[in-house]
Amino acid sequence: MRTRAAVLYGANQEWQIKDVELDAPGRGEVLVKTHAAGLCHSDEHLVTGDLGTPEELGGSSLFPVIGGHEGSGVVIEIGEGVTDVEVGDHVAVSFVPACGKCRWCASGQQNLCDLGAGTLGPGMVTDGRSAHHGPDGEDINTMAKLGTFAEHMLLSQDSVVKVDPDIPLMPVALVSCGVATGYGSAVNRAEVTAGDTVVVVGCGGIGSNVLQGAKAAGAKNVIAVDPAEFKREKASVFGATHTASSMEEAMELVGGLTAGVMADSVILSPGVVTGDLIAPAQFLTRKGGTIVVTGLAPMMQMDVQLNLFEFAMMNKQIKGTIFGSDSPRHAVPRLLGMYQAGQLKLDELVTRTYTLDQINEGYQDMRDDKNIRGMIVFD
Ligand SMILES: [Zn+2]
Ligand SMILES: [Zn+2]
Repeated sequence: MRTRAAVLYGANQEWQIKDVELDAPGRGEVLVKTHAAGLCHSDEHLVTGDLGTPEELGGSSLFPVIGGHEGSGVVIEIGEGVTDVEVGDHVAVSFVPACGKCRWCASGQQNLCDLGAGTLGPGMVTDGRSAHHGPDGEDINTMAKLGTFAEHMLLSQDSVVKVDPDIPLMPVALVSCGVATGYGSAVNRAEVTAGDTVVVVGCGGIGSNVLQGAKAAGAKNVIAVDPAEFKREKASVFGATHTASSMEEAMELVGGLTAGVMADSVILSPGVVTGDLIAPAQFLTRKGGTIVVTGLAPMMQMDVQLNLFEFAMMNKQIKGTIFGSDSPRHAVPRLLGMYQAGQLKLDELVTRTYTLDQINEGYQDMRDDKNIRGMIVFD
């Protein structure tokens, strides 16, 4: 079938709206009519080239690519052998496909599913074929095997999570990346507990949910660090008790709040993580404390500033996280249940909605720090 999609043909270009031909759903595949797609910063890494140039990646490239890895929709067609969902089911997408059978899935770590290894490569999860074709017959890839910036998505059933149809599809989309990633960074990975002091660096679409996670876990002090005044103002809505415009400014604040002990955990969730953020995060963290790296760093970056003597002698730890260190089929329904119970703010995350044709405007607003989360909403 034919659909309309936002396609990126190379780094440092604008998104182009194109007619794209989708194959019929093959074995284990589903066709989803998209309802909402989040303008997450991770897709911006495609635009800036932070996800690697063809030269850096040894010739392979995701371009041309349909963007978007946060989204929701309704299943309108299923291929042979699909057992997880039926036509009419509401689904959240999952940027980490989860097979349910590999060693990682079987041990409750669907976020590390073996199928995720190829999530930034070409081809369908199911059989590796190219199933999206551009107006000039070119094969088109999809971001994270999803491509939510399109009116329809052809997906593996391993990339969708069935949700309660009573829940509006905009919050469902939010939970599929930003909310699960942020909330889980605090609750699952930093293991925030009641009375903790938590510093959250970067308070956009991910960081706002780190704040929510820290609050839900009972943190006493939740310090939101962001250079953008708009995001610092919004931070209190999501649970921040204090704000600072930089980590340097936070140093004095956290020192005062903890009588010099410093933070139990520091969570790095800016749009782009760079190696020079680690040393200040290290000094914001108390002895025995935890640093969690949540945001995406440029793929080829290797250099990190870290005082190894202090790191060892103060018994600190640095942890990475993907999908908030949770399983999509566990986290998505659970977080949506909290939303229904009024324990999680999802509607408040959406600053502005856009049509698919306004996608470049939406990303410009993100670059200008005007949005906590911008969303594309389809008819
Ligand atoms: Zn994302
Ligand atoms: Zn698996």
